[in-house]
Amino acid sequence: NRTHNGKQLIVGMGQTGLSLARYCRMQGWPFDVCDSRSHLPDLSGWSDFNDVDMFIGDWQSLDMSVYQRLLVSPGVPLASGEIQAAMAVGVELSCDIQLFVDAISTPFFAITGSNGKSTVTILLTGMLNAAGVTAIAAGNIGVAVLDLLVEGQSADVFVLELSSFQLEMCQQLPSLAGTLLNLSPDHLDRYADMDHYWQAKQRIFNSAQCAVVNLDDDFSRPEVNIDTVSFSVQQAADVCLQTHQQKPWIWVDDQPLMAIAELGISGLHNVANVAAALAMMKAANMDVTASVDFLRTFKGLPHRCQTVADKHDIRFINDSKGTNVGSTLAAIEGIGPTVEGRLIWLAGGVGKGQDFSCLADICQRYVSACVLFGQDANLIAQQINAANHTVVVETLEQAVAHVIPELQSGDVVLFSPACASFDQFKNFSERGDAFVHCVTQWEQGL
Ligand code: ADP
Repeated sequence: NRTHNGKQLIVGMGQTGLSLARYCRMQGWPFDVCDSRSHLPDLSGWSDFNDVDMFIGDWQSLDMSVYQRLLVSPGVPLASGEIQAAMAVGVELSCDIQLFVDAISTPFFAITGSNGKSTVTILLTGMLNAAGVTAIAAGNIGVAVLDLLVEGQSADVFVLELSSFQLEMCQQLPSLAGTLLNLSPDHLDRYADMDHYWQAKQRIFNSAQCAVVNLDDDFSRPEVNIDTVSFSVQQAADVCLQTHQQKPWIWVDDQPLMAIAELGISGLHNVANVAAALAMMKAANMDVTASVDFLRTFKGLPHRCQTVADKHDIRFINDSKGTNVGSTLAAIEGIGPTVEGRLIWLAGGVGKGQDFSCLADICQRYVSACVLFGQDANLIAQQINAANHTVVVETLEQAVAHVIPELQSGDVVLFSPACASFDQFKNFSERGDAFVHCVTQWEQGL
């Protein structure tokens, strides 16, 4: 009954789906497309595909089991009944990342983890380029990988940031080196438990030549037996921290490379990210000394613990990309000890089934006041249990408006939501921009 033998079905009609369609057309593969949403935010890119059958919203007339292969976007849960039914009769499943990796002969690095993926991806790409190796960052970081092939872009090496949803659909990733930076609870609305989430992430090591392992996080170790290069900010490792000239330095292979104070990026979690990127280069037998200048100048990515206003000794930090408890924990831990006045924390949004009680201790230690907003504000307030210092409002704008009249010299306002943004914003960057807008108005009103 496999009437569409030889045909692909592209599942998901966002940016990834569109890049899959362009690639299938370039390959001359016949395909249909579908999306379970009946109102797609942006259909404009699809006007080039009028000849293709599109199943939008209603999947009643769509039998996925007749296709040769499903090419699934990361936003689509594999647990969906239609996909499970197709898998049960042996329909193949793949994704843009696997097609890309199968098509290229260019070497590549692969990076995953709950937090720090984009920062390590951009660090490594910048360090490689500084060392004269042409590198392009792609994957979860914005550029859909297949668009690189459609546009005919070439590089000496690709640096791929991969989410657990992308990894779930990958079989073989023969990278120069793969890393699972860290693991903390996230996306537990899509995974049954932490073990399922970890299993998805472990696929980063399938066929990797080398694993880069964070010794400070047991989840980072590969299940499979492959060569490893280690990094740590707490103990001895191939890339680690040790004293040199009475100051903390980054050491690579028992040699001091540079002082931490010289790094352009700040916070201990970012020192770990630099160590990870250095370890990736080391895993590929690349010289890191030419990358030191880049590390001096790179100040980090927007929306990641970025100081967006600093006036009258009052500092506002935008960490809108802090979308889970692990990232917010790192942000409070990294910034807390540097605050002379009070640390005021703003958070909230969609909690994704996380347990916020693991933030209770760190709040007790560093946070003087906390203002929560968005869909799960009340739930977070209950779980962190810091009732005396917690205020719940509806929106981010109200949260900022609430803290402004109370600010004193020495205070730091940290916006690290620990939640997804889609209850009130399009994405984390729109949310971060909204925060910056409020802060700029305050700055101009001074
Ligand atoms: P990702 O791409 O994995 O979401 P980013 O590099 O964009 O990671 O950083 C997202 C947020 O995670 C940052 O705003 C910061 O709060 C936190 N973060 C960054 N690096 C780390 C790390 N190594 N460990 C824990 N948290 C981190």
